[in-house]
Amino acid sequence: MDAGKPAPPARREAVLVVDDSVVQRQHAAGLCRALGVGEVHEAQHGRDALALLDAMPHPPSLMVIDLEMPVMDGFELIQQMGKRGLRIPFLVASSREGALVRAVEVMAATLGMPLLGGVAKPLTAEVLAGALQGSHEVDARAVAAAVPNAQPPIAPELLAAALQAGSVVPHYQPKVDIRTGLVRGVEVLARWTDPVLGVVPPDRFIATAEQHGLIHGLTRSILDQSMAQVAHWNARGLVLSLAVNLSPLLLQTPTLVEEISALLAHHGVAAGQLVLEITEGSLVGYDAGTMGLLARLRMRGVGLSIDDYGTGFSSMQQLARIPFTELKIDRSFVHGAHRQAHLRVILQSALEMAGRLGLVSVAEGVETIDDWRLLQEFGCTVGQGFLVARPMVGGALPRWMKSHERRLPELRMPRTAARAAAEEETK
Ligand code: C2E
Ligand code: CA
Ligand code: CA
Repeated sequence: MDAGKPAPPARREAVLVVDDSVVQRQHAAGLCRALGVGEVHEAQHGRDALALLDAMPHPPSLMVIDLEMPVMDGFELIQQMGKRGLRIPFLVASSREGALVRAVEVMAATLGMPLLGGVAKPLTAEVLAGALQGSHEVDARAVAAAVPNAQPPIAPELLAAALQAGSVVPHYQPKVDIRTGLVRGVEVLARWTDPVLGVVPPDRFIATAEQHGLIHGLTRSILDQSMAQVAHWNARGLVLSLAVNLSPLLLQTPTLVEEISALLAHHGVAAGQLVLEITEGSLVGYDAGTMGLLARLRMRGVGLSIDDYGTGFSSMQQLARIPFTELKIDRSFVHGAHRQAHLRVILQSALEMAGRLGLVSVAEGVETIDDWRLLQEFGCTVGQGFLVARPMVGGALPRWMKSHERRLPELRMPRTAARAAAEEETK
């Protein structure tokens, strides 16, 4: 940006300012207009803002939210927006201490809300112009992310038939050593390939499977197919760990341990090659039965991963009690961490905790080389994401491995950084 005056936004914008102080509201609204924002809306508190949002034909491109307000404060407003799926980019403007703003940052990250930053009042033109710019990037991502959810869930009868017909198949996404770029394993992601519907993503059928008693059969089928694939790779000297997502509902199935053991034996795959990913959210209220089941799996040598870490509310004490081997940090804390301070704080503390508990740390959703470098710097163990590869059919993996070899120099940890990390370790 050149000296002083920020460039006006290129498209027609709408901004909603939520603040109980008339002076602050008018100040922010005035800045918006000066920046060429087409529509500026004002609300006095959270409830007022929610009513306005309900009435708007299109959500605004940006919201500026005060924290302390009567009737409904900024915290509750952000929570309510999260509940309603209103993922509108927003800026928090507060005259209070930084700790409060940081609390909002953690809350927003947990809810998956696109917070662009927390700023001290009064708002400036530079900050606002930057936020408007940032809101465009978030908009584009939010639209992309919303597409699968926009589709209705699949009817259970259709899913049952697809399972019967063997149309629900595993795809594989590589999990890669962050320091060297070498492939360590794959995560299995279920895909339904239908001649009419095309490739249906799991977001559209896992919940249906869970609600209609089909998740057990689905998981058994995925385990069976992916173990067969791994046995095939093993036989050709390609030994990779296999990570399979386990629905929390299955943690209530006492026969699960025997079933998994039987499948491993049938395919001649070592238990140590299998990792089960279980979402953090499902572990909060776990009972003795679940605990026993996890311990028995672990005793047989199966690896256990805490999936989507950061989206639930588990405590370190809880995590330490369960025999986990891996901590998988949710992609909402990974994507964009190199340029968002609040994400970096959470990411770094999660990685530190994983290290202290002796767990392998995995960062999912790595899309850019900048985030990749940050993870190297923070000492993360394994990375997974579109930067490395999208999920693919089993048959495509060997060829992908060949092309991946050519990318190793780019993905490898830069020499000086690697040396510094090694020195740090030997201290
Ligand atoms: P998850 O376990 O968190 O899996 C990671 C999801 O992130 C996958 O979505 C993957 O395609 C996507 N992903 C990977 N890298 C990137 C990236 O760089 N950027 C972005 N934006 N996304 C990335 P997918 O395949 O649509 O799976 C969605 C969820 O469905 C999974 O989330 C998992 O919870 C569930 N799921 C998939 N297969 C199974 C299964 O066999 N059983 C159960 N119970 N759940 C499954
Ligand atoms: Ca997973
Ligand atoms: Ca996840």
